[in-house]
Parts: sequence; C-alpha cells; structure tokens
Amino acid sequence: MPETAFRFPCSDELGHGYYIAQGFQDSIHGDGAHLGLDINGLGGGNSDLGDTIYSIGDGIVANTYDTDYLSIYYKYKGKVVKALYYHCKDIFPKAGDFVSKGEAIATIGNSDGMYLAHLHFELMKDTSIDAGFYGFPEGKFYDPIDVLPFYNK
Ligand SMILES: [Zn+2]
Repeated sequence: MPETAFRFPCSDELGHGYYIAQGFQDSIHGDGAHLGLDINGLGGGNSDLGDTIYSIGDGIVANTYDTDYLSIYYKYKGKVVKALYYHCKDIFPKAGDFVSKGEAIATIGNSDGMYLAHLHFELMKDTSIDAGFYGFPEGKFYDPIDVLPFYNK
C-alpha cells in the first residue's frame, strides 16, 4: 500500500464548501470525548445529504457496516492507520477492496434521520479499534485537522 499525501474527504482536496461543525476531543473528562471531526456543508441542515465522500488517500477497505460506516487502512508517516467515515448514506467499496485517493467511496447520510446530515471522520493510530470505541481514547487517535489539508485552519 503506497503512502499518499492526504486530501480532504469532501469537495476538492482542500474541502472548499465545508466547515468543521464539531472538532476533535479525546479527553473523556469535561464535555466528553468526540474522537473525530464533524464535517458539514456550508449550506447547513441537510444540504449536504447525498454529497460524495472521497477517499483521503490510497488505501484498503477494512470494514463496512450496512450503509452506515466504512473504515479504511492508509499509510501515514510509514505506519498503518485507520480512517473511519461515519453516517454514510451509500457505501461503494467492500472490505478488502483497494481504493485510490480521490475515489468516490460513499455519500453523506444522516443515520436514518437521527442527525442532520454530516460526515463524522476519525483517524486511528491504533488500528485494532473499530467504530463505537469506548474506554480511554487518549493517544489512540489523531486529531484529523492536524493531518488533513483544509482551506480554513
Ligand atoms: Zn461526530
């Protein structure tokens, strides 16, 4: 699996037209943990429902769950990491598939109306973790905003 410079998962490489509605927080104290970014279209509400989600790099699909999430292995700084794309409406690849940077892998969903449409994106240093992690997350995740290119940071 080659290491590629990452792109933003929505819109163009720099994510124009999107904003970070909720940032990363890996402390379980205070307001609680949020182990990824909530990425929303600037139009707000469900304006981004069905928008395309692109693979941030060249990778291999680890897992897919119904139409809700998929996780993909990538190489970053010489190590394997795992990205999780959550609340998807449609998911295109299957576990074990190779995906290339910029390939359409899913569309933005709203978990059957549980949320307003958005992409919840996580990047795990510890690849043994999968969706719905509970416990002590400190040090097991990257803050994706430190890793992804974004026009507004
Ligand atoms: Zn979230």
